[in-house]
Amino acid sequence: MKPVIVIHGGAGALTRQAMSPEKELRYLAALQDIICQGQRLLTAGASALDVVTEAVTMLEDCPLFNAGRGAVFTHQGTHELDASIMDGRTLEAGSVVGVQRIRHPIQAARKVMEHSAHIMFTAAGAEALAREQGLEMVEPDYFSTDERYQQLLAAQQGAGKVLLDHDAPLDPERKFGTVGAVALDAEGNLAAATSTGGMTNKQVGRVGDSPILGAGCYASNRTVAVSCTGTGETFMRTLAAYDVAAMMEYGGLSLEKAADRVVMEKITSLGGSGGLIAVDGQGNIALPFNSEGMYRGYGYADDKPVVAIYR
Ligand code: ASP
Repeated sequence: MKPVIVIHGGAGALTRQAMSPEKELRYLAALQDIICQGQRLLTAGASALDVVTEAVTMLEDCPLFNAGRGAVFTHQGTHELDASIMDGRTLEAGSVVGVQRIRHPIQAARKVMEHSAHIMFTAAGAEALAREQGLEMVEPDYFSTDERYQQLLAAQQGAGKVLLDHDAPLDPERKFGTVGAVALDAEGNLAAATSTGGMTNKQVGRVGDSPILGAGCYASNRTVAVSCTGTGETFMRTLAAYDVAAMMEYGGLSLEKAADRVVMEKITSLGGSGGLIAVDGQGNIALPFNSEGMYRGYGYADDKPVVAIYR
């Protein structure tokens, strides 16, 4: 069993042809930096919980990904961010929904987990808790980038569709974002974290799978830590993250088989698109996706980081 971190930066219609070499390098470098930081922390003995918090905080700060700065726009040109975190050791969890002023929604989810008697807070309540806990607050336009705004305009001009964020205007129906991290630490503990801006041109108030424990995020030391990305509605209807754990626990499936069945059969049969990252208590990992690509990577402690975008 070796400590390991796995991250994703969203899935979608990511093809080599649609991406400039320069942009591809930027994505790969960002993923690699974050994995290296996770590996350093794991080697120094950090907990899985701290490692996924740090990785997702870094992903939120990177405008290339649809979480924190660089989040997609709602139909009304605003941002509504969702995040969740779960500790596989205790099954404690925290989540925030529709927040607009918290610089790092994942840190707010962690504060909910550690400093409230509850698990999930929406907009104003989540922001009040974050403020009380001393988290950094920002103006709502802090999250805006020109690239995402162009995506909103493109989505609104093409049939008013709701898009996943990494699909270029080329194919507005297949565009996702979201970031996530899962980790196994030296003590054998698992943790998962997920953060998102949601889907481009989503209706105000729409909530996807990312902040829903068991759908977009789940961790239990008994089985697995999972973070999902894709058409949130199908991940909610299949309880995708928990379903991986349930198939392992009750059906005795391996991590690889359980993760594959969820993404390639269950999500696919409902017309959903996307993928997930997962790690089990032995340090086995799985990164299945049914879209053209998924920004992803992993690194075992003291080993070379591995990053990829396409199949
Ligand atoms: N799953 C996210 C949502 O539905 C979107 C994504 O993964 O890009 O909000």
